[in-house]
Amino acid sequence: MVDDLISTICPYCGVGCGINLKVNELGQLKSVEPQSNHPISQGKLCDKGWSTAYAVTNKNRLTQPLKRIKNEFFPISWDEALSTIAVELNQILDDSGPKSIGIISSARATNEDNYAAQKFTRTVLKSNNIDHCARICHSPTVAGLKQSLGSGAMTNSASEIFDTDLIMVFGADPTENHSILGGHIMQAHLKGCELVVVDPRKTRLAKLANIHLQLNLGSNIALVNAMLHVIIKEKWYDENFINERCNGFKYLAQHVAQLTPVSVEAITGLKAVDIYQAAKHYSQAKRAMIFYGMGITQYMSGTNNVISLANLALICGHIGKNGTGVNPLRGQNNVQGACDMGCLPNVYPGYQSVIDTNIQTKFSNAWQCDLDPLEGLTSMGMTKAALAGDLHALILFGEDPVVTDPDQNHVKASLKKLDLFVVAELSMTETAKLADIILPAASFAEKDGTFTNCERRVQLVNQALEPLGVAMGDWQWLQALAKKMGSDQLNWKTSEDVFNEMTSLNPSYEAMTYQKLAKNHGLQWPCNNENPTGTRLLHANTFPIGKARLISVNHTDIDEPTDDEYPLSLTTNRLHFHYGCGSMTRNSPLLERETPPGILFINPENANTLNIAHLDAIGVKSRRGYIETRAIITGDVPIGLVSMPYHFKEAPSNQLTNTAQDPVTKMPELKACAVSVIPLPKGVEPKSIQQLLEGD
Ligand code: SF4
Repeated sequence: MVDDLISTICPYCGVGCGINLKVNELGQLKSVEPQSNHPISQGKLCDKGWSTAYAVTNKNRLTQPLKRIKNEFFPISWDEALSTIAVELNQILDDSGPKSIGIISSARATNEDNYAAQKFTRTVLKSNNIDHCARICHSPTVAGLKQSLGSGAMTNSASEIFDTDLIMVFGADPTENHSILGGHIMQAHLKGCELVVVDPRKTRLAKLANIHLQLNLGSNIALVNAMLHVIIKEKWYDENFINERCNGFKYLAQHVAQLTPVSVEAITGLKAVDIYQAAKHYSQAKRAMIFYGMGITQYMSGTNNVISLANLALICGHIGKNGTGVNPLRGQNNVQGACDMGCLPNVYPGYQSVIDTNIQTKFSNAWQCDLDPLEGLTSMGMTKAALAGDLHALILFGEDPVVTDPDQNHVKASLKKLDLFVVAELSMTETAKLADIILPAASFAEKDGTFTNCERRVQLVNQALEPLGVAMGDWQWLQALAKKMGSDQLNWKTSEDVFNEMTSLNPSYEAMTYQKLAKNHGLQWPCNNENPTGTRLLHANTFPIGKARLISVNHTDIDEPTDDEYPLSLTTNRLHFHYGCGSMTRNSPLLERETPPGILFINPENANTLNIAHLDAIGVKSRRGYIETRAIITGDVPIGLVSMPYHFKEAPSNQLTNTAQDPVTKMPELKACAVSVIPLPKGVEPKSIQQLLEGD
């Protein structure tokens, strides 16, 4: 009796580590192991990767469609579920038109599922109301890098971490969130690569770094502009690179001429000498790479923050060569792919604009139907429209916005106003509890397809197990729903058929096939006729926009500063042992035992003033909500700043966070809001949000 080993990809973060699923002769998942020869993970996995089996086989999986009747869910057949949804959607389309329905697809689902979701939205529902969770993680990356460089993705390959002289990490905590890459950065540093970390918190990498710039929340642009000032004043910039490959240097130099390190000391909280040193080390390194995360993007200034990092790399010529570049650390396993597939309200697959008439014609011809010429609603635009009574139906899969979006009360109120709310999920989530119909989704181990990781590597996901109960892959039920609605637009037999249709329309994926992906541990886009074996390093000879753009950007204050009533700033973070809304990781008893359900990190001085001891129960209040949790006292957060992970539905930090938005991408300012922390009487247990809402 020999177990089968099915090679596939870890379903958690955007690193995209290779795993093998061991399946016995009864078709049961026995264990998970790392792929020894995988180009990124190289035989390693983090705790989440090793615990993948729990995400698939746990007792909380949904195994058949459910329909809400009053406040209870009852099992129904797929036929009844899809017929009910089809009738209601057609009625809403007749009564209120295409703009009154939206779809939120999933960065956890495959490229094939996401391609199907945007095609369903555009050809069956006839609007561009399609979005996904990139809205609240890296939409400013897509917008900012596209403006500066012409392409909104990681410029390098993960392997170049070992082939550079300096790594600068802005607003990211890779050893917690992208652990295998974080480990690579630590290893490179131990071998002599300089490390500069820019973060308000003392992260693990910050403690090891040659320079840690512990800046004030939301002061990234002020810092980078001052670094640009130093580099230009000291003539440490790469004149040849700027002349040959950039536009806008003269204006940028004028823009930062007065922005000395001393002038930004009050905004950044950093000493001028430290800013000077960071500028010197970064610009003088022979090769330097920037990595950044949501400490850059989740601000009202998110897009401009990204642009400022591109400015820094460009004037130093640290882009387009091996070991140099700008690298967003994409969060979920397939958030890069969901963006590439066009699950965004303004672009078709391959970032082709929906308002460009030539592109519209291309897709209209391919899909043989008329298309909406206007951009659609973002995910937060959809919840806003629902609250206003303008959006009547929403289909959402593999996302839990009640836990992950800002201002939880607003999200819940919006979803409750919908006439039809459909959720496809692996297990019951806080969002699914509000649905009218819940569809049981197949897990990554129960379907074929592809994921695209943060270094643009498209990798095969191979089916190892039969779906649990009557769970179904997302493109399959979307196709069945389209047929029930009278449309033949989605008409595929296999995941490979979906992929092949997508590659015929997406120039970056043009030369990819399942056979080529299987042979190569995937391929990195662009993979087209000019680069048939994929592209390891972006922008080596030219930018997609010809010359890169140096764009002058200004510092803007965070939306909600502290005051007497809310004297502390709250930022959000993630923990190594959990992922996103926790709907997968919290089903692992191994991961679950590592942290209490909900914590707040607070500096010893603030804790002392408030008479709070380690692990004491506390209340946390903002202008939008109140939750209770436990305090962890640590010098890793500076005085005046508290930090909370958002994985825990019992103490959801997004009850508190601010909805103020980046004007370009509508990214909410999740990284900064004002709160007060209230000690609860000694011996009292923190109440979960459910208990607080029920007045328990
Ligand atoms: Fe999975 Fe990310 Fe951990 Fe790799 S680093 S094992 S992809 S969670």
